[in-house]
Amino acid sequence: MSHDAAEAEYTYAAAARGEHHEDGLPCGSQGGESGHSVAALVERAVDLAEPIKPRLRGWLHAGMVPAALIAGIVLICLTRTPQAAVACAVYSVTAWLLFATSAIYHRGTWGPRGEAVLRRLDHANIFLIIAGTCTPLAVVLLPPSQRFVLLWIVWAGALVGIAFRVLWVGAPRWLYTPCYLALGWAPVRYLPDFLHTGGAAVLTLVVAGGLLYSAGAVVYALQRPDPSPRWFGFHEVFHAFTVAAFTAHYIAISLAVY
Ligand SMILES: [Zn+2]
Repeated sequence: MSHDAAEAEYTYAAAARGEHHEDGLPCGSQGGESGHSVAALVERAVDLAEPIKPRLRGWLHAGMVPAALIAGIVLICLTRTPQAAVACAVYSVTAWLLFATSAIYHRGTWGPRGEAVLRRLDHANIFLIIAGTCTPLAVVLLPPSQRFVLLWIVWAGALVGIAFRVLWVGAPRWLYTPCYLALGWAPVRYLPDFLHTGGAAVLTLVVAGGLLYSAGAVVYALQRPDPSPRWFGFHEVFHAFTVAAFTAHYIAISLAVY
């Protein structure tokens, strides 16, 4: 490998490392390294990084791919108005994209470029599922004037969030995780309307889902609890929270639209 190639690979790998979920690896100094030691560093980093990925990484979300597809079709078929059907279709697509992209990203080994692209999509999907989940709730439970305000807030927020994640690729975890929480809790002022139109069960499930997603975000940000780094680590705990949260919101939306 030429010096330039080694350097390019190092920069690439370092970029991938720096933005990868569970790196935890110390950053090597970029300047002043010889090609040989840089290549050795890359190899060592890859060696260290590989076994860190727990064996069950991605399986929870892989299981959700067919489940979310079927759940989405059932939901759309059982809606009572065309608007609700469209809103539920938007929600179902965002949910399916989230789980499918996550499963592909987390189950496979994609190399630095593939990892970087899939990670971008994986994180963009979090903003989409937030806006997607709000869509049927806004359409079914809110009067038209409030409905459009909430839809504007969440979809504009989602687009800004996606642009932020895509344009600032190395944004630190402590900075972007609160962005998900901020957008996720933006609709909180509409909860009384959800209670009024949807009833106590819908409100309880919407709030429970929000709390479960938030608990997952906290686990993701703190990187603990990390019960079994080899099999089921903190990232799997985070994924488990997303599945539980999605389930709570799916039932809430079902109750609201049937
Ligand atoms: Zn993940």
